Amino acid sequence: MAETANPFEMARQQLAAVADKIDLDANVHEVLRHPKRELTVNFPVSMDDGSVKTFTGYRVHHNVTRGPAKGGIRYHPDTDLDEVRALAFWMTVKCAVVNIPYGGAKGGVVCDPTALSPAELEDLTRRYTTEIAILLGPDRDIPAPDVGTNGQIMAWLMDTYSMSVGHTVPAVVTGKPIAIGGSEGRIEATGRGVVTVAREALRAAGCQLPGATVAVQGFGNVGSTAAMLFCRAGAKVVAVSDVRGAIHNANGLDLVKLSAYNKAHKTVVGFSEAEPIAPDDLLTLSCDVLVPAALGNQITTKNADRIRAHFVIEGANGPTTPQADDILRDNGVVVVPDVLANAGGVTVSYFEWVQDLQRFFWSEAEVNSKLEQIMTRAFGQVQAAARRHGCDLRTGAYIVGIHRVAEAILARGIYP
Ligand code: NAD
Repeated sequence: MAETANPFEMARQQLAAVADKIDLDANVHEVLRHPKRELTVNFPVSMDDGSVKTFTGYRVHHNVTRGPAKGGIRYHPDTDLDEVRALAFWMTVKCAVVNIPYGGAKGGVVCDPTALSPAELEDLTRRYTTEIAILLGPDRDIPAPDVGTNGQIMAWLMDTYSMSVGHTVPAVVTGKPIAIGGSEGRIEATGRGVVTVAREALRAAGCQLPGATVAVQGFGNVGSTAAMLFCRAGAKVVAVSDVRGAIHNANGLDLVKLSAYNKAHKTVVGFSEAEPIAPDDLLTLSCDVLVPAALGNQITTKNADRIRAHFVIEGANGPTTPQADDILRDNGVVVVPDVLANAGGVTVSYFEWVQDLQRFFWSEAEVNSKLEQIMTRAFGQVQAAARRHGCDLRTGAYIVGIHRVAEAILARGIYP
């Protein structure tokens, strides 16, 4: 198959590959090739200068057979319907891989959140929430943060939804601040899950995290937490990057100092205890573990052959094209796929939702230990499926996830 930069095409190629492998029921395959529902909204926002600007947003439900639609909201200038469709599809698979009772969804608004004032960002969020509110609800569709969104934006979403129904509904969104029903451990959950599966992947290959060298692309929620936790686990984080550039220190970066620098300067670029490197060179650095934790389509046929890491742990969604995946596999690189590697976020989102519905909250230690259990179990099941079918971990993860979704679709039947 030709390499495509279209993420939804990529997602369909991944589905087709696993359908062949597990002899997927042709009707189930047909159902899963299409998102269940897609909403596109164009809505006005009053800008600080008095003008009105129209923004475009999306909310896509890929499949809701196993439970309410779950998936983050992305604010990014380059997001589009096909990206949101792909991300929603991956959420369906991801929730099934970690076996939590959700379907897959995703949302996005085409905007550059860094170019908006706090008031504009709040207005945009409240209006977008109102526009997609026909889909939302704690039993219907529960958004969460993704690229360009955060706890504050989730708080505005929760408040807007609650105002419209006339009472407080914490369980309509996850990734909220603790003060309004957020969960301990949610902010760190995706990065924590990344490090947990990295540890398991290394262990399975007879290696260990202490002493391992790590490069992390992206220093946002996922990348910065993963880097910090890798460091605490005894690994040496030798390079990190963000949208502004990349930095390298062969002796290992001091993550405490780097995080403080990043907090103050909103970038890792210019950190004095490292030298700058070209962003593309981070991906092909000689190291044990590479963690793409920025955007999709980063490892392609253009650079896959030059990747020298032994393990690629996909913190980001869709960072590797299917064709690049083949190259990595042929070169013996172990790829822990996004639908497993970054599932820690949705797992603790699930915990947050459960706590909100029960109005009974857990300690951080409890959250982390349950997360650890789920991620380790999921890794073991994916690895077992990969061994059984003689395939890589991505195919193994799709086998586990798609099998669960297919079982649910077949049990419920096609209505009417
Ligand atoms: P974020 O907005 O907090 O951070 C994104 C980071 O990537 C920023 O540091 C940004 O500067 C950097 N970046 C952007 N373009 C880059 C480029 N070309 N090169 C290097 N760095 C670049 O986003 P996040 O929540 O950390 O999400 C990162 C990835 O993880 C996304 O693919 C997202 O879908 C995925 N993910 C996030 C979560 C979550 O809980 N936040 C859960 C699962 C998956």
